[in-house]
Amino acid sequence: MNPRIALIAHDRKKDDMIALAGEYADFLRRCTLTATGTTGGRLITELGLPVERKHSGPFGGDLQIGAQLVEGQIDAIIFLRDPMTPQPHEPDINALVRACDVHNVACATNVATAHLVLSQLQQAMDAAQSLPNPAPTI
Ligand code: PGA
Repeated sequence: MNPRIALIAHDRKKDDMIALAGEYADFLRRCTLTATGTTGGRLITELGLPVERKHSGPFGGDLQIGAQLVEGQIDAIIFLRDPMTPQPHEPDINALVRACDVHNVACATNVATAHLVLSQLQQAMDAAQSLPNPAPTI
Protein backbone atom coordinates (compact mmCIF):
# COMPACT_ATOMS: atom_id res chain seq x y z
CA MET A 1 0.00 0.00 0.00
CA ASN A 2 1.25 3.48 -0.76
CA PRO A 3 2.14 5.63 2.25
CA ARG A 4 -0.62 7.61 3.91
CA ILE A 5 0.87 10.96 4.88
CA ALA A 6 -0.63 13.90 6.81
CA LEU A 7 0.67 17.40 6.09
CA ILE A 8 0.23 20.32 8.50
CA ALA A 9 2.01 23.66 8.58
CA HIS A 10 1.50 26.66 10.82
CA ASP A 11 1.08 29.97 9.04
CA ARG A 12 4.71 31.06 9.10
CA LYS A 13 5.79 27.59 7.96
CA LYS A 14 3.41 27.24 5.04
CA ASP A 15 5.90 28.53 2.46
CA ASP A 16 8.40 25.96 3.74
CA MET A 17 5.74 23.25 3.36
CA ILE A 18 4.99 24.26 -0.23
CA ALA A 19 8.70 24.26 -1.09
CA LEU A 20 9.20 20.88 0.58
CA ALA A 21 6.15 19.28 -1.01
CA GLY A 22 7.20 20.70 -4.37
CA GLU A 23 10.51 18.87 -4.11
CA TYR A 24 8.69 15.59 -3.45
CA ALA A 25 5.65 16.26 -5.64
CA ASP A 26 6.12 13.22 -7.90
CA PHE A 27 6.34 10.97 -4.86
CA LEU A 28 3.53 12.67 -2.94
CA ARG A 29 1.21 12.32 -5.94
CA ARG A 30 1.47 8.55 -5.46
CA CYS A 31 0.64 8.77 -1.73
CA THR A 32 -2.65 9.11 0.09
CA LEU A 33 -2.53 12.64 1.47
CA THR A 34 -4.52 14.37 4.16
CA ALA A 35 -3.96 17.88 5.46
CA THR A 36 -5.42 20.59 7.63
CA GLY A 37 -7.64 23.04 5.77
CA THR A 38 -5.44 25.94 4.80
CA THR A 39 -2.31 23.87 4.31
CA GLY A 40 -4.30 21.46 2.13
CA GLY A 41 -5.78 24.28 0.10
CA ARG A 42 -2.36 25.61 -0.80
CA LEU A 43 -1.03 22.13 -1.64
CA ILE A 44 -3.96 21.67 -4.02
CA THR A 45 -3.94 25.06 -5.70
CA GLU A 46 -0.17 25.63 -5.88
CA LEU A 47 1.05 22.08 -6.53
CA GLY A 48 -2.02 20.21 -7.75
CA LEU A 49 -1.56 17.49 -5.15
CA PRO A 50 -4.50 15.18 -4.39
CA VAL A 51 -5.19 16.09 -0.77
CA GLU A 52 -8.12 15.27 1.47
CA ARG A 53 -8.70 18.47 3.44
CA LYS A 54 -9.75 18.45 7.06
CA HIS A 55 -10.83 21.46 9.10
CA SER A 56 -8.29 24.18 9.70
CA GLY A 57 -6.00 23.41 12.64
CA PRO A 58 -7.47 25.94 15.09
CA PHE A 59 -10.95 24.58 14.28
CA GLY A 60 -10.13 20.94 15.03
CA GLY A 61 -8.16 19.77 12.00
CA ASP A 62 -5.27 18.50 14.10
CA LEU A 63 -7.74 16.47 16.17
CA GLN A 64 -9.33 15.01 13.03
CA ILE A 65 -5.92 13.90 11.80
CA GLY A 66 -5.16 12.56 15.28
CA ALA A 67 -8.32 10.46 15.13
CA GLN A 68 -7.28 9.04 11.74
CA LEU A 69 -3.87 8.24 13.18
CA VAL A 70 -5.35 6.43 16.19
CA GLU A 71 -7.45 4.36 13.75
CA GLY A 72 -4.24 3.25 12.00
CA GLN A 73 -4.89 5.30 8.86
CA ILE A 74 -1.73 7.46 8.88
CA ASP A 75 1.83 6.24 8.30
CA ALA A 76 3.69 9.53 8.83
CA ILE A 77 3.04 13.16 9.66
CA ILE A 78 4.89 16.17 8.35
CA PHE A 79 3.99 18.76 10.95
CA LEU A 80 5.87 22.02 10.41
CA ARG A 81 5.21 23.76 13.70
CA ASP A 82 6.10 27.37 14.38
CA PRO A 83 8.08 27.34 17.62
CA MET A 84 8.15 31.15 17.82
CA THR A 85 4.42 31.91 17.81
CA PRO A 86 1.86 30.93 20.46
CA GLN A 87 -1.01 28.93 18.92
CA PRO A 88 -4.62 29.06 20.18
CA HIS A 89 -4.92 25.29 19.68
CA GLU A 90 -1.74 24.32 21.54
CA PRO A 91 -3.57 21.50 23.39
CA ASP A 92 -4.60 19.98 20.02
CA ILE A 93 -1.03 20.21 18.73
CA ASN A 94 0.30 18.48 21.82
CA ALA A 95 -2.40 15.81 21.56
CA LEU A 96 -1.43 15.04 17.97
CA VAL A 97 2.28 14.79 18.71
CA ARG A 98 1.50 12.64 21.75
CA ALA A 99 -0.70 10.35 19.62
CA CYS A 100 2.26 9.89 17.25
CA ASP A 101 4.40 8.79 20.19
CA VAL A 102 1.73 6.52 21.63
CA HIS A 103 1.19 4.79 18.29
CA ASN A 104 4.81 4.95 17.06
CA VAL A 105 4.04 6.99 13.95
CA ALA A 106 6.82 9.05 12.38
CA CYS A 107 6.29 12.76 13.05
CA ALA A 108 8.60 15.26 11.39
CA THR A 109 8.30 18.68 13.03
CA ASN A 110 10.96 20.50 11.02
CA VAL A 111 12.15 20.57 7.42
CA ALA A 112 15.38 18.65 8.05
CA THR A 113 13.52 15.73 9.60
CA ALA A 114 10.82 15.92 6.96
CA HIS A 115 13.47 15.37 4.25
CA LEU A 116 14.69 12.26 6.06
CA VAL A 117 11.18 10.85 6.45
CA LEU A 118 10.02 11.62 2.90
CA SER A 119 13.20 10.39 1.21
CA GLN A 120 13.08 7.15 3.21
CA LEU A 121 9.42 6.55 2.32
CA GLN A 122 10.16 7.35 -1.32
CA GLN A 123 13.07 4.90 -1.43
CA ALA A 124 10.95 2.19 0.18
CA MET A 125 8.20 2.73 -2.38
CA ASP A 126 10.64 2.70 -5.31
CA ALA A 127 12.28 -0.48 -3.99
CA ALA A 128 8.93 -2.22 -3.52
CA GLN A 129 7.83 -1.30 -7.03
CA SER A 130 11.04 -2.53 -8.64
CA LEU A 131 10.81 -5.99 -7.03
CA PRO A 132 10.08 -8.79 -9.50
CA ASN A 133 6.66 -10.33 -9.17
CA PRO A 134 6.74 -13.40 -6.91
CA ALA A 135 6.59 -16.73 -8.71
CA PRO A 136 3.04 -18.01 -8.94
CA THR A 137 2.20 -20.78 -6.52
CA ILE A 138 0.87 -23.93 -8.13
P1 PGA B 1 -4.22 25.15 8.66
O1 PGA B 1 -4.01 24.49 10.07
O2 PGA B 1 -3.52 24.29 7.67
O3 PGA B 1 -5.69 25.14 8.43
O4 PGA B 1 -3.64 26.54 8.75
C1 PGA B 1 -2.71 24.27 10.55
C2 PGA B 1 -2.61 24.64 11.98
O5 PGA B 1 -2.57 25.83 12.29
O6 PGA B 1 -2.56 23.75 12.85
